[in-house]
Amino acid sequence: MIVMKFGGTSVQDGPAMRRAIEIIESEKDRHPLIVSSAIAGATDSLLRMGQTALSGDTRAAQEILSELVSRHRWILFDLGLEKAAERDLADLIALYAEELGNFTRGVVLLRELTPRIQDAMVGYGERLAVGLLTAAARARGLDAVHVDAREVMLTDTRFGKARPEREKLPERCREKIAPIVESGKIPIMDGFVGSTSDGEPTTLGRGGSDFTAALLGAALEAEEIQIWTDVDGMLTADHRVVPEGMKIRELSFAEAAELAYFGARVLHPSTIEPAVSRDIPVRILNSRRPGASGTTIAPRCRKAGVAVKSIAVKEGIVVSDVKAHRMLMAHGFLKSMFEVFDRLEVPVDLVSTSEVSVSLTVDSVERLAEVVEELTAFSEVTVERDCAIVCLVGEELRSTPRIASRVFTALGDINVRMISQGASEVNLSFVVREGDADHAVRKLHTEFFEGMELPDVFEPVNREAVT
Ligand code: ADP
Ligand code: ASP
Ligand code: MG
Repeated sequence: MIVMKFGGTSVQDGPAMRRAIEIIESEKDRHPLIVSSAIAGATDSLLRMGQTALSGDTRAAQEILSELVSRHRWILFDLGLEKAAERDLADLIALYAEELGNFTRGVVLLRELTPRIQDAMVGYGERLAVGLLTAAARARGLDAVHVDAREVMLTDTRFGKARPEREKLPERCREKIAPIVESGKIPIMDGFVGSTSDGEPTTLGRGGSDFTAALLGAALEAEEIQIWTDVDGMLTADHRVVPEGMKIRELSFAEAAELAYFGARVLHPSTIEPAVSRDIPVRILNSRRPGASGTTIAPRCRKAGVAVKSIAVKEGIVVSDVKAHRMLMAHGFLKSMFEVFDRLEVPVDLVSTSEVSVSLTVDSVERLAEVVEELTAFSEVTVERDCAIVCLVGEELRSTPRIASRVFTALGDINVRMISQGASEVNLSFVVREGDADHAVRKLHTEFFEGMELPDVFEPVNREAVT
C-alpha cells in the first residue's frame, strides 16, 4: 500500500479537489490511504476567528466563519454531486458551522481561548476538507471511506503541538485502516488532527499533515509516502525567494531531514524520521503537474557530483550569548546551561562555544523570558531577536574543498552572526539578521547553482506548465 497526502493548495477549490481525485484514481491499484489537510488558508482563518472572538469582536469572528463556510459550500456546489450526496454534505457543513459558532460565542463570553479549545476549533478545517474529498471521490466511483483521525492518532495533551503516542499507532491502524484497505476501499483521513486518550481533539503543530502521513506510512509499513503539494518537489531554494531555483530529483533522508528542519516548509520537520525508521521512500509531487517526477527521498541516493543541493532558511530565530560568571569555563557550566533548556523544553538549534561563552539559537520566544531568568542565576545573558539561520545542504559538502571560503566570499558585506559546521555531515549553517536572509540566499544560489553545467540531479522547473 501507499500513503498519499494532499496539502491545502491541492484541495483548495473544486478544480483542485477534482485533480486530487484523478491522482488518487491513477494510483488506486497500489491500495492508497489518503491524508488530507484543510483547504488552503482554512487553518489560518480558524486561528484568526479564535483570536478575534477572544478580543470580544463577535461580529468580526462570525464574518470569518461565514466566509470559511461559504468557501466550503462553493466547493460543494462546484463538485456537482448527486442531489442526495450534496444535501448530506450541505447538512454536515451546516452542523460544523453551528458547532464552530457555538465555540466562538463561548470564547467571546468567557474571554478565554485555551490551547485545548483552540485545537477543538482548528480541527474542523481538516474535517471539512475530508468530508468534501470523500464525497468527491465517491461521486467519481471510488469506494472512499472517511476515517476520523481522532480514532487513530492518539496523542499526549500538549494541545497545539501534541506528540503522537506512536506505540499505539500500529494497532489503531490495523483496527481502523487496514480492513478498509484490504477490502479494496480507499480510506481518507484528516491530517494534523489527533485526540487524547480522553477523546479531546488535539493538533500536531502547523504543517502537521505531512507528519500524520509519515507516521501512518511507518505504522502500516507502506511502500511509499507521497506528499502532494504546489511545487514540483524540493527545490534548490524556496521559489518565492529564488524564482529560477531548480527541482532536485533525489535527496537522501539525511539531506531532506536537514532541509525540513531548517525551514524548507514543503516538508514538516518531523516527516522524515518515521520514514527512516522503516526505510520508506518519500516523494514530493506537484498536484498541478501530476505527470512530473517530483523529488524522491530515499535512505541513500546516487552521488550528485555537487557540493550544495539546496539552501533553506529558518526565520524567527533568537541568538543568545551566554557567558559564565566565572572567567574560565567552569566545569559543569555547559551541563547547567543545557539543563535549563531541557527543563523548559526549549530546543536549541545551533551552538558554538568559546572558552568562556556559548552562543546558541532557539526558534521560539515563547519561554525565552523564563530561560533567560534561569540562566542569569549563573551567567550573563544577551539576546538578539529577528535573526535567521541559512543552511546549505548536500551529502558532498564535507568532501568538497573551499566551501566555506566560497560561502563567505559570496556573502560579501552581509554580516554573519554565528557559524556552525560539523555536527551534521550534510549541512553548513550560519546566522544572519532576518532582513538579510533572502539576499544571502540569492547570493549563495548564484554562487553555487548559476552558470553550472546542469548535473543530472537537478531539473529546471517548467513554470509555464503550472496552471
Ligand atoms: P502544503 O499546503 O501542500 O503542505 P506548504 O505551503 O506547506 O504546502 O509547502 C509548500 C511550499 O513550501 C512551497 O510553495 C514553497 O513556497 C515552500 N518551500 C520552502 N522551501 C522550499 C524548497 N526548498 N523547495 C520547495 N518548496 C519550498
Ligand atoms: N492545516 C494545517 C496547517 O495549515 C496542517 C497542514 O496543512 O499540514 O498547519
Ligand atoms: Mg505543508
